[in-house]
Amino acid sequence: MRLYSTKSKESFVSLEEAVFKGLPDDNGLYMPEAIPKLPDAFLKNLISHSFQDIGFEVCKHLFQGVIPDDDLRSIIENAINFPAPVVRLDDETYVLELFHGPSLAFKDFGARFMAQMMSYFNLGNNRELVILVATSGDTGGAVAAGFYKTPGIKVVVLYPSGKVSHLQEKQLTTLGENITAIEVDGTFDDCQALVKQAFLDKDLTKNIRLSSANSINIARLIPQSFYYFEAYKQLPEDRRPVVFCVPSGNFGNLTAGLFAKKMGLPVHQFIAATNANDIVPAYLNTGEYQPKPSVPTLSNAMDVGNPSNFARMFDLFGSTWNNFKQDLKGYAYSDSQTEAAMRQVFSEYQYVIDPHGAVGILALREYQAAAKASIKGVVLETAHPAKFLPDVERILGRKVDVPDRLAELAEREKLAVRLGADFGSFKEWLAANY
Ligand SMILES: *Cc1c(COP(=O)(O)O)cnc(C)c1O
Repeated sequence: MRLYSTKSKESFVSLEEAVFKGLPDDNGLYMPEAIPKLPDAFLKNLISHSFQDIGFEVCKHLFQGVIPDDDLRSIIENAINFPAPVVRLDDETYVLELFHGPSLAFKDFGARFMAQMMSYFNLGNNRELVILVATSGDTGGAVAAGFYKTPGIKVVVLYPSGKVSHLQEKQLTTLGENITAIEVDGTFDDCQALVKQAFLDKDLTKNIRLSSANSINIARLIPQSFYYFEAYKQLPEDRRPVVFCVPSGNFGNLTAGLFAKKMGLPVHQFIAATNANDIVPAYLNTGEYQPKPSVPTLSNAMDVGNPSNFARMFDLFGSTWNNFKQDLKGYAYSDSQTEAAMRQVFSEYQYVIDPHGAVGILALREYQAAAKASIKGVVLETAHPAKFLPDVERILGRKVDVPDRLAELAEREKLAVRLGADFGSFKEWLAANY
């Protein structure tokens, strides 16, 4: 397997290099040179394969022998160790629950798989690898949990003091072992600047093997394609077309769905659902891609003003607006529409959906209203509603069940190193500890 940069299709890197570098030097994004179709026999018989079998088959065809079968199996078994069930709301509406992992959001799939891949490629290297991550809340928790107790790898998560939710802070600061949280007196941008500066610092990089766990790492995208097959497999077998509706921010999830379709999954249509940060729906309408500063919304994990995977989608769509708008529909909704959808889903189906999933329901309904025939619509439920407890309880006017693994967190002790936002203190701390 080789990967190119969306900015230069002439030079290639290995999977290992793409995983450790995260981003190409030219600031493009890594893409697989080929996304092969899976064998028909496999696609026709998904029902007889486990979620892990599906992951194995996808990777085997994509990686083309880079990782021996036995190793690949154990990477997948370690990374994908929780289910992705489909819940039926009605005959045309299904919800794919992606929140059964440790941080209760779909990002666990990507973070865990990336951790396994890095650990695999790091084997035999006896220099410890130190991963630096800056987080505004969500990603850090998934990455920290993904790398928890991974041999040979230490993780340092930087987060802005007082600017992440109580629960998010607990997810970052209570793991211990190989995970260290740094509470920075500053903003998320300060955290990101500290990480960037560390990579540029020759003293540090001479003595410490540093890497990043960037959200655009190709190793985070690949496992997100597995669950489109897994969802398809759970739908009733009939001839109606299947559409996937994806609540989107940076469009990693949606891009992974496009990978699944290229690999042969018979998806009739992808639908992008966004909140007020409607850059992609606007692009589908006008043909002009206009990033803008993000605005805060109820579905805050989708508050993105310049979606980082746009370049990957553009590349997959053959770099034309025409293909783009053929293969992708896009709709955007306000917070008040989102709240109404959450209440409607609860009153009609007694199903508690989180604000991100509710944006997806709205988009599916709009698409269905215009469609001529009956379809099977699958909405990706990207996080557990208990992650947004105060909002969800206020909107639904009732208590919401909190999963045990979340409730337990509240009891655990916070452990964090507190630092200023100046690079000097961070550098000193890194040098003294690694
Ligand atoms: C990250 C996230 C999203 C957005 O996913 P993208 O792949 O960036 O489009 C949606 N919902 C939740 C809950 C998230 O954490």
